[in-house]
Amino acid sequence: MPAHITPNQLIQLIIPGITAVFALSFAWAWVYDKRLRYLRFLAASFGAFALGSAVQICHLPDEWRSNALLSAAFYVPSIQLLAEGVLRRAGLRLRFAAHASMFTLVMGGMYYFSYVASSLLVRIYILNLSAGLLMVFTALRFRKRCRGRTINHILLWVLLIFGASFFIRTPLTVIQPLPHSTAPFAQSMFWVLLQLSLALMGAVLGLVLLAAAMSDVIDRLVLERDLDSLTETLNRRAFERLAGRRVADKRSQPLALIAFDIDNFKSINDRYGHAAGDAVLRQFGAILRGAVREKDVVGRIGGEEFVLLLPGADGKFAYRIAERLRAVLESSRFDEIDATLRVTTSAGIARYRPGEAVAALLARADQLLYAAKRAGRNRVLTELSDQTLDASTLDMA
Ligand code: GH3
Ligand code: MG
Ligand code: MG
Repeated sequence: MPAHITPNQLIQLIIPGITAVFALSFAWAWVYDKRLRYLRFLAASFGAFALGSAVQICHLPDEWRSNALLSAAFYVPSIQLLAEGVLRRAGLRLRFAAHASMFTLVMGGMYYFSYVASSLLVRIYILNLSAGLLMVFTALRFRKRCRGRTINHILLWVLLIFGASFFIRTPLTVIQPLPHSTAPFAQSMFWVLLQLSLALMGAVLGLVLLAAAMSDVIDRLVLERDLDSLTETLNRRAFERLAGRRVADKRSQPLALIAFDIDNFKSINDRYGHAAGDAVLRQFGAILRGAVREKDVVGRIGGEEFVLLLPGADGKFAYRIAERLRAVLESSRFDEIDATLRVTTSAGIARYRPGEAVAALLARADQLLYAAKRAGRNRVLTELSDQTLDASTLDMA
């Protein structure tokens, strides 16, 4: 343990201080929403970096070789955890074996160039190049999963610049006349500036990652507000909002809306209980969610009434979709309720008329739905060129 801390060291201690604050922020965000598991990796990454720099700055242990090795044993996993956190946020990951090999190689090199053929230069190269390579590799893999969000693009660029900076730092360090022992070099102004620039970039990366995490937390809250928890389709309010957006978009035309209502649902509840009714709703919700394309909007707008808005669909296309979904439900089995239970649905399809409100479109689909009920249930009715048609008049594929 050093006898006293120099002013230089005191300035440098800002670095572990700031990184520790980031580590705590990520940990706090994770406690707030435990489903965002990647936050644990980011918290651990910033925590490891804080420890590594604290150990290095305070000369713990005082003997330089052990100090170089101990600080590297924190720095290397710090970068690996950062990479893993960024990748997991995008639904990707690195194999444990890849991490273990990288750690062993880098630490092996650090050991060799500390104890066997001591070279500060090579140690700097090993640490910086491995960190830079991993960062750039992570950024390139992450690039494919950016999905258009601004915060993701900012994160991508910060990762690339951060990664590239490791490559630039190395020759910058090397062109400096290096002192023979480590101690004066670690105290030189040049080294402090290098450390501070790294800290500054780390802080920018930390802020961007925090912003990305916050936007993920908000996205989840919005989703919870918009989703019907039983069927995981949109609730009525969210459906109306999204459908309003789709109909206002000229590129969505033509546009059709299917309204489904499960047949004799009350009797399912009466016979098997409310929980069984819920299971049927969940299953039909899953059938609908499984059938939609990204641009479609599916919601549960009443007890057992579901709606499906299909941008770019004419009456025939919508009819085929509705008919297929009707047939899937009809052939579904509910063995956990009763192996003989058969559930059917009726549906009405309305085509969007430019300028009309979503409520008017929905009302027309509802009229056809109730016409389907009157006609005997378990069927789809649609309007085509202002005529009401059913399967007998449509040439079904
Ligand atoms: P129809 O073929 O004419 O549509 O007959 P139906 O029995 O399906 O229609 P009705 O509107 O009479 O019954 C709907 C039932 O749905 C009544 C209500 O108790 C039930 N229901 C509404 N919401 C839920 C829910 O969240 N869970 C369950 N299990 N039942 C619900
Ligand atoms: Mg019903
Ligand atoms: Mg109903």
